[in-house]
Amino acid sequence: MIKFDIITIFPEIFSSYFGKSILKRAQENELIKIGVHDLRKFSIDKHKKVDDKAYGGGPGMVLKIEPIVRAIGSILKLKVKSKKLKVKSRVILFSTRGKKFNNKIAEKLVKYDQLILICGRYEGVDERVAKYIADEEISIGEYVLTGGEIPAMVLVDAVSRHIPGVLGKQESLEEIKGSYPVYTRPEVFEMRNKNLRVPKVLLSGDHKKIEEWREKFH
Ligand code: SAM
Repeated sequence: MIKFDIITIFPEIFSSYFGKSILKRAQENELIKIGVHDLRKFSIDKHKKVDDKAYGGGPGMVLKIEPIVRAIGSILKLKVKSKKLKVKSRVILFSTRGKKFNNKIAEKLVKYDQLILICGRYEGVDERVAKYIADEEISIGEYVLTGGEIPAMVLVDAVSRHIPGVLGKQESLEEIKGSYPVYTRPEVFEMRNKNLRVPKVLLSGDHKKIEEWREKFH
């Protein structure tokens, strides 16, 4: 079982994605656990402020280090209290400057007991979190999103697929079966006076030929 602990200022974003299909079942079967933590709860400011202006000027606000450190402290303390076991945890900060996420990283992360995921917002997160608190920074691609919440969903989803039992059949993992085009009924679909057909080889029943055809896409 892996525990994902997500630190965010928008905790309500996650319930619909994690409450459906494979990830929902994985939680029900206790293969994964997902905790979503509202960063504002860890603010000591009377207005629950978690951001401030950037030193040196510039547009946009910056998420402060104190609430993030308090949130991580509280998550780790909960773990120690509840289990008293040595837990292999990793703290990940989502950042546009991070290492590009891919399946190899997902396979590495699945070996941890707990992944603490920090979602940035606005102009980003005080750099001291990247330097002194996070174990690594991850980017999900070369574009800028408005926050780290979608990257957190991507990481939870991609890592969970590597946990035995999460996918109905482990051979569904693309690393095992490869990725190739798939078709389903009807055999012929008519559109704008054209017949869109399923490749003949897939209808042949010849498994060797089908394998060879699929391998062309690996
Ligand atoms: N100027 C900032 C930068 O270049 O990092 C932009 C910050 S972005 C608007 C706000 C937050 O969204 C970031 O702190 C990060 O947590 C998250 N984010 C945006 N794009 C991302 C990406 N491609 N991968 C991972 N996280 C991303």
